[in-house]
Amino acid sequence: MSVPPEAALKRAEVMSAVLRRSGLRLTHQRLEILKELAAADVHPDVEAIYHAVRERVPTISIDTVYRTTAALVHLGCVRRVSATVGPARYDPNVGPHHHFVCQSCGLIADIEDADLDVLSPPSAVGELGEVSRAEVYFKGVCRSCAARSG
Ligand SMILES: [Zn+2]
Ligand SMILES: [Zn+2]
Repeated sequence: MSVPPEAALKRAEVMSAVLRRSGLRLTHQRLEILKELAAADVHPDVEAIYHAVRERVPTISIDTVYRTTAALVHLGCVRRVSATVGPARYDPNVGPHHHFVCQSCGLIADIEDADLDVLSPPSAVGELGEVSRAEVYFKGVCRSCAARSG
């Protein structure tokens, strides 16, 4: 499973436009970082983005990856996913969707389900505030981890 090239390109275009509009210069390094993020479907952490971009841009620093990713999150182009105990993971899919999380290897996979998108919150939630969207995490052990532990 991977992001279709057209979809990744479209996302990268949107990210570039938003980044430029925010006043940030679209440097070669920032462009490579956002292209990497736009094509990612594994919800990478900063370390993984850094290693992938470094293949093409050996001078990249992890600090630049941190700052660019944080800017994209701030601008709403990327979502921070914090469903695992490890470092924060990042998601370029900002449309409504949910996740399956393997608690053994940290796999995070997208789940699209229209019924979950409109999940009605319990009344206790309504007492706390207004809900803008529901995000469901299904946590467990993925098939390959289950096969490995046999
Ligand atoms: Zn797993
Ligand atoms: Zn996702």
